[in-house]
Amino acid sequence: MRTTILVTGGAGFLGSHLCDRLLSEGNEVICTDNLFTGSKDNIRHLLNNELFEFIRHDVTFPLYLEVDQIYNLACPASPVHYQYDPVQTTKTSVHGAINMLGLVKRTGARIFQASTSEVYGDPEVHPQPESYWGRVNPIGIRSCYDEGKRCAETLFFDYHRQHEIEIKVARIFNTYGPRMNPEDGRVVSNFIVQALKNEPITIYGDGSQTRSFCYVDDLIEGFVRLMNSDPEITGPVNLGNPGEFTMLELANLVIEITGSKSQITYMDLPQDDPRQRQPDISYAKSALGWEPSIQLKDGLTQTVEYFDNLLKEGV
Ligand code: NAD
Ligand code: UDP
Ligand code: UDP
Repeated sequence: MRTTILVTGGAGFLGSHLCDRLLSEGNEVICTDNLFTGSKDNIRHLLNNELFEFIRHDVTFPLYLEVDQIYNLACPASPVHYQYDPVQTTKTSVHGAINMLGLVKRTGARIFQASTSEVYGDPEVHPQPESYWGRVNPIGIRSCYDEGKRCAETLFFDYHRQHEIEIKVARIFNTYGPRMNPEDGRVVSNFIVQALKNEPITIYGDGSQTRSFCYVDDLIEGFVRLMNSDPEITGPVNLGNPGEFTMLELANLVIEITGSKSQITYMDLPQDDPRQRQPDISYAKSALGWEPSIQLKDGLTQTVEYFDNLLKEGV
């Protein structure tokens, strides 16, 4: 019997890589997506695979399917996109979680939630372990995403306690790689596209804020290990690369890799922009035997190649 796996948000950046990985292992994959920030281009190479099925569907509406596992990834992920329609962002996290948890309650499937390091907000504890409860502004412009994801975590743990379903909650830290949406305003895609076009590289603030960047292949390995771990491992589990860089360091690295003539330009820092972020991945190491292996420079080189091709195709 094949395992049938539902990936919500499967036409997005992470979702499409996950579909590739699950199909390569011989699973049957149902990908649902409303194509808000995702694209059929990300899954076009899978459309003729008989083990793959795409359904255009908004996760805030009920969905009745028979599956063994669900990876719940549907949600706009970049500040530009999740702030475009903030009410819909909260609905996607909260109603989406309720619908997928209802499906799990009915079928007995196992469910993975793509949570986020944003649940830690602008953290006072550094690096962030899973035991840290976070410092999130409930009424700011990032709140639709942060609080939506926090509420989804609450729902996962309440369905787990109340209905004894199997849950796997991952807190994902900044991840990058091919198939990032060039329009989503995230720092890695912005800097690479700007560098390739020899346009000014836009640093928000003074560039001293930090992030930790994980290459997509490392992250997907963590997803699959978590999903297939023992039932008592519910998470939350931090998944990310502990290598921490300032945005100025990132800009200089991108300039070096691309050989760009771009200059750096400084712009206003957005509201509630976290000062620093680095995952404590001790738990992922001990529980899943997982840690990332791809260095930032190597991952960026792959990503630059992807965007270079995209620009040459005129996309
Ligand atoms: P993405 O925007 O490329 O993918 C999200 C996908 O969800 C898109 O294909 C989009 O069309 C779809 N979607 C959005 N709203 C939907 C809805 N209401 N119904 C159905 N589909 C919907 O972003 P991504 O980086 O691939 O993120 C995937 C998941 O991982 C998200 O839940 C995000 O919050 C989480 N995450 C990502 C990162 C990261 O650095 N990439 C970090 C933390 C958490
Ligand atoms: N749901 C769904 N697919 C299913 C089962 C349920 O989309 O296969 C939705 C259903 O519409 C409901 C939600 O999941 O709104 C929560 O389901 P649950 O059984 O927990 O709640 P109830 O139906 O009892 O309110
Ligand atoms: N950032 C930047 N220039 C850009 C885009 C983003 O300096 O063109 C900064 C942003 O202010 C933040 C960091 O880079 O401090 C990471 O931003 P991103 O939107 O990628 O992720 P998040 O803030 O959600 O971690």
